[in-house]
Amino acid sequence: MTDTHCPYCSLQCGMTLTRRGPALEVSARSFPVNDGALCRKGWTATGLRGSRERLTTPLVRDRATGELTAVGWDDALDRIAGRLAALRAEHGSDANAVFGGGGLTNEKAYLLGKLARVALGTSQIDYNGRWCMSSAASAANQAFGIDRGLPFPLADIERTDVLVLVGSNLAETMPPAARHLDRLRERGGRLVVIDPRRTPTAERADLFLQPVPGTDLPLALGVLHLLDAAAAVDEAYVASRTTGFEEVRRSAAAWWPERVERVTGIEAGQVRELAALLGGTRKAMVLTARGAEQHAQGTATVLAWIDVALALGLPGRPDAGYGCLTGQGNGQGGREHGQKADQLPGYRSITDRADRVHVARVWGVTPEEIPGPGRSAYELLTALGTPGGPRSLLVFGSNIVVSAPNALAVTERLAALDLLVVADIVMSETAAMADVVLPVTQWAEETGTMTNLEGRVILREQAVSPPEGVRSDLDVIAGLASRLGAPGDWPTEPEEVFAELCAASTGGRADYAGISYRRIRAENGVFWPCPSASHPGTPRMFADSFAHPDGRARFVPVEHHGPAEGVSAAYPIHLTTGRVLAQYQSGAQTRRIRELPDEGAFVELHPLLATRIGVRDGEPVLVRTARGELKAPARVVATIRPDTVFVPFHWVGANRLTNDALDPVSRMPEFKVCACAVSG
Ligand code: SF4
Repeated sequence: MTDTHCPYCSLQCGMTLTRRGPALEVSARSFPVNDGALCRKGWTATGLRGSRERLTTPLVRDRATGELTAVGWDDALDRIAGRLAALRAEHGSDANAVFGGGGLTNEKAYLLGKLARVALGTSQIDYNGRWCMSSAASAANQAFGIDRGLPFPLADIERTDVLVLVGSNLAETMPPAARHLDRLRERGGRLVVIDPRRTPTAERADLFLQPVPGTDLPLALGVLHLLDAAAAVDEAYVASRTTGFEEVRRSAAAWWPERVERVTGIEAGQVRELAALLGGTRKAMVLTARGAEQHAQGTATVLAWIDVALALGLPGRPDAGYGCLTGQGNGQGGREHGQKADQLPGYRSITDRADRVHVARVWGVTPEEIPGPGRSAYELLTALGTPGGPRSLLVFGSNIVVSAPNALAVTERLAALDLLVVADIVMSETAAMADVVLPVTQWAEETGTMTNLEGRVILREQAVSPPEGVRSDLDVIAGLASRLGAPGDWPTEPEEVFAELCAASTGGRADYAGISYRRIRAENGVFWPCPSASHPGTPRMFADSFAHPDGRARFVPVEHHGPAEGVSAAYPIHLTTGRVLAQYQSGAQTRRIRELPDEGAFVELHPLLATRIGVRDGEPVLVRTARGELKAPARVVATIRPDTVFVPFHWVGANRLTNDALDPVSRMPEFKVCACAVSG
């Protein structure tokens, strides 16, 4: 029996894996976030074990026939390293690029960043977490001086008085977490849900607000306006623990409830109801998720809600505060250890001299040898194969063809590369385009740490041996590094890599110095920052000070500009995208698990809209945007706004429609709203 965690979302539910002959059985394990429950994705997580879909040998594309053919590991790695070296010699270091994932373990994310900077000497590395919660990260860094998704344990939400979920469908995306919502309500707490769709989460709400997609920001300004008018601002907290409130107060003054109603579609009375709930207690929480964040104004939207939380004096108060519900399994750790274009391990900045000196010492190079910041994820992908852009891409843990915005344009760029290498467990849509495919281990076959949505570093333990022919990503990275003649050590044992990661993070914002596998096992995970072996870890942040040098949080004024692409006569309907219960991210794994329903893409629309275009439930609907089109069966429901359609993004198609407008700070694409036309 092996105690471990689920391979999928950021909740990282505890589970136990038991060998029964050749089978591997899942049982739920009591862990603080899931309390002995799993969702159906967790229960079926071993479904890819022994599957014929598993890749078990490296594959290289024959340029003459276009076919992928099996080769040995040494041959595959030799060919990749030789081609990378040649491209570097011919076009410079930035000719080679790396793309990681928010599902990779901390050890893999760390070693991937080191591979890019030290072995390839390239600045061109980013990852799909840029598309997950980077707007919340940018906002938290600005406001608090540090970015940890939840600055408190998830179970704290049970004890607050008012919980406001902005753009989160927690009950469907991470069902075990919904128990915390139920306990909150059993205690008499109130739940507010803000979402363009009446989701299973919204069904639990005491107050449900259904805004036009892309208008969460003016709603926050309107709430702050009312709180200020009602003298509900915590003036003592604002004076002693923050800076910048007066400018924010002035910007909110223009957002009276009737104006908010005109822009958001939410009745002024409901805006007042929300403000009254928040202003009537000292214990409230505001949590944002992708619905609020995946916008060209995602950072500003999160800042607007943080401004509300700060005005009420919530961050740092017990059972209160602001937090972001991270999505991907290692969405938190993945953004801390160096696979992001502007970051070094420990959430260090790649442009900070002292940070570069520290990491260079750990890596055994000079600070000057570490490249500067590279392109953000979407900008990197759209530069591939262009003059001056990267000529090769190494992809680990990401299925770009399905998950990138404006996916048709991105697929064209992948096809223009001289070399595309994909390390994956199955032949994903992106792997199918690759020149070299490398078969790697999956979660139960390897050990490694993840950092869950609470900032709790947890350990996934190896339970079984990998299939013959499969290697771990750490082996692949080290194999490439040695062939490229990289300096320094390239350990492949996860615990050794973790120790190096901890050293690199020492003194950084995400300080893991005091965390070890032994402690994680003994303590049900350890919350960072944990600067020494004797430090207990930090489950709750901001009780006494924030992470800015003066210890104060920053109010940041924001303005509403609306979605980058407004509706028009040609495209009169809002399109939004999201997840369904049985699938995870690009679906590369979950679509291949027999026990999970693979219903395919669908178009959710309101009966009024369905009648207008003459479509009945189950009949095909054509959705068109300025970038592409998708035909899928109609799902006619009264739970969505009549001016909005929803398409899940787990299947090829949804992201051919989405807009690639980027947030100016986080570089997050606007996945959550664009303009479309629908017809039968
Ligand atoms: Fe796995 Fe997330 Fe489901 Fe928990 S909620 S079982 S972590 S997919």
